[in-house]
Amino acid sequence: MQINAADTNESFELTHSTGRDAEADLLDTQVRGVHVLEAIEQNDELRDRPVQVLCPNCGGEVEQYEDGLPSYVSWFKSRCSDCEVELRRWSAVAVDAAYTEMVTPSELVELVQAYWDRHLWDGIQTAENCPRTREFTEAYSKRAQEYGWEWSPTCPLCRRTLDELGISWLDYHHWQKEPDVGICLCRNCHDDINGGDCDTNVDWQARKLGLKNKHDLQILRLAAREHLVEPAASLGAFAARLVERYNLIQTPEAVRTIIDQARESDEVQSVIDHELPDCSTR
Ligand SMILES: [Zn+2]
Ligand SMILES: [Zn+2]
Ligand SMILES: [Zn+2]
Repeated sequence: MQINAADTNESFELTHSTGRDAEADLLDTQVRGVHVLEAIEQNDELRDRPVQVLCPNCGGEVEQYEDGLPSYVSWFKSRCSDCEVELRRWSAVAVDAAYTEMVTPSELVELVQAYWDRHLWDGIQTAENCPRTREFTEAYSKRAQEYGWEWSPTCPLCRRTLDELGISWLDYHHWQKEPDVGICLCRNCHDDINGGDCDTNVDWQARKLGLKNKHDLQILRLAAREHLVEPAASLGAFAARLVERYNLIQTPEAVRTIIDQARESDEVQSVIDHELPDCSTR
């Protein structure tokens, strides 16, 4: 898929997040029928039961659908009069009305923040295949400010905010094209997983080392750096974390194998700046 001219060197912008372990929270609320409105338009969830749309800041209702959500939510705009904030598809939360009482305001806040992090890290694609990360980075940041939230865009790998990094948006790194799959990182982290080299040179370097391709080498450098920031407790859980957090196209089992096999090669390990997790830490 074509992205845009600015992306040909994989340097389009993207963005960030707060290193909190949001996936578990997200899962927990999803089970109970709570979703950011934008995240549910493709499935049948909440189509056949009363649904309330809530402001994630105060938990107040801004809209209700007695017969369930419309089959297609193309446009949404509402306003929370208490918070004096406009709500859009990406900032309103839809809840199965039967569960509204069980959802706390802090869960709504965490859900929305985790959604923004994920959306920005994955690289936002519009219908024109245009990454609109810069625009959404600004939109999310502005909304967080209006709510008085501490959240701000962060690089998933170094966990620094864009402000700390002195940048306005993150770079995009491709794991795959057609369909486009990648992860947004700050420039430092992007350089780091390439060992300071450009993507094209990394592929030959990887093959000379006897690795399958550049992605395996990038995954190893990613793994070593992630392990440095947040050490692996077990290799299985660590591989799953890498796949989830960095939007990898490999299975956790494959990632674990890549790490296991690299640890058998001194030559491969010598080109990686940081330690790989130890195989014994299963
Ligand atoms: Zn509100
Ligand atoms: Zn970074
Ligand atoms: Zn790249």
